[in-house]
Parts: sequence; structure tokens; C-alpha cells
Amino acid sequence: MNQFVDSHAHIDGKEYDADRDEVVERAREAGVCAILNVGTGDPNSGSLERAVEVAEKYENVYAAVGVHPHDARLFDEMAARRIHALIKESSRVIAWGEIGLDYHYDNSPRDVQREVFRRQLRLAREADLPVIVHSREAEDDTVNILREELKGSARGGVMHCFSGSRAMMESVVELGFMISFAGVITFKKAEDLRDVARHVPPERLFIETDCPYLTPVPFRGKRNEPARVVEVAKCLAEIRGLTVEEMGRQTTANFTSFFGLQISEEKSENASKL
Ligand SMILES: [Zn+2]
Ligand SMILES: [Zn+2]
Repeated sequence: MNQFVDSHAHIDGKEYDADRDEVVERAREAGVCAILNVGTGDPNSGSLERAVEVAEKYENVYAAVGVHPHDARLFDEMAARRIHALIKESSRVIAWGEIGLDYHYDNSPRDVQREVFRRQLRLAREADLPVIVHSREAEDDTVNILREELKGSARGGVMHCFSGSRAMMESVVELGFMISFAGVITFKKAEDLRDVARHVPPERLFIETDCPYLTPVPFRGKRNEPARVVEVAKCLAEIRGLTVEEMGRQTTANFTSFFGLQISEEKSENASKL
């Protein structure tokens, strides 16, 4: 069976309340051997706890917890304590995120976004966790803040749903980041992005769905789900002149080595952190 990893999904969302078990099962059937579920929303509403709960419920589902730039204005001491508690309680929590800057929606004031981004980068570093970074229309500020805050850090992170320039890609690769592509790469108008994808070092590539958003071609308009990460792999394989199997293997190996995980190909009882 082919192996793929959905390195960024939001399957704890209410969009899946009616059929979450089937969604996870369909992913398995499609060859998706692991999913990283990312908690978002008001950090003091129980949303992060819920993201971890969902990860704990299924085999080979991991979690990231952090405060999204949209909710930066809601980040406080209590939120930091909740995140720390989840990291301590659950071995499924493998990253701090998603954190970053979103100047497209500006749901939180930009100065607050920048401050909260820096604070979480420092906290993740103290907790010895890699970060999952969300960056939209904020290329320069993202790279500058990462450079300042992660100087000398060994853990790096993941630039999720990458949509930036080649220069940005090269800057973050230098900082030890993985570059994760989502369904956007399959969109007709994404020619520039496909060109960037052609130049990412092979050992830095990740694939993701960011579901329920960003449904890849040819399923646009429908709810997205982890099984669809295969479409992202297909597109990336074509761009890079590989088979979809090779692309799956490469990105899965990148994921397991980056996070230090052991994931068995078939269902197993002891997939665990090394
Ligand atoms: Zn995001
Ligand atoms: Zn996301």
C-alpha cells in the first residue's frame, strides 16, 4: 500500500462530527499512514484539548497545539499554561502550532500577531518542540522574526500551506524548516507556486490537506479530508518527475525523521515516539 502523511489537518472540527471515524478510515484506505491534527480557535475555549483528544482516539494521529495568528489577541498566560499542560500530558503532541502571521484577514491587530508569534516561538524553543508556521501575505515579517527568534535553535519547524516566493522558501530552508504543500498547488492559477515546489530540496518536502479547507483539484467545492492528500502528492510528483509512490515515500520519510516518529505501514499497536 502507498504511504502518505497528511502533515496538517483539522479533523477535530465540527465539520467532521457526523463522520469522523469514516474520514479517518478513508484516509487509511487511501494509504495515509499518519495525520498531524492541528488545534486552532480560542485557546481558552477547550479547542486545543479537543484537538489532542481526537489525536489520542486514533492510531497514528498526532497533534500540534498553539494559538493561530487569527486568535493572537486571545493569547494570554492561561493559554500558555494550557498548551504546556497538553504537551506534558500527551505524547501525541509533537509540535507547537499553528503560529505565525496572517495579514490577509487581519483578524488580530498586526502588532499583536507579531508579539504573540515571538512569544510562542520562545516558548516552543523552551519546550524543545518544532513549530508549525502559518504565514499569509506577511513574508518579510515572518522570515525576519524567525531569523531573530530561532537563531541557533536545532528544532526548526514546518512552513505549512506554503504559498510564498522562492526567496522565502530558500530563507526558511536555511533556518531548518520543512516546506509543506497543500491543495493550493493543484489550482490552475498556481503556476508560480509549482515552480517554487520544483526547487525545494527533496528532504525538506511535506504534503498536507489543511482540511476542511483547500480541497485539491479535481474535488474543489467539496469538504476536504486527509485522504485527499494523495492528490497533493500526485501533483508534486508530476512537477518533480517522480511517481506518486516515490513522492509518498519521500514525504513520509521526511515526516517521520523530522518528528522522530516510528510509523508502521499497516495498522499496528505500537506506533510511538522514539
Ligand atoms: Zn494555517
Ligand atoms: Zn491549519
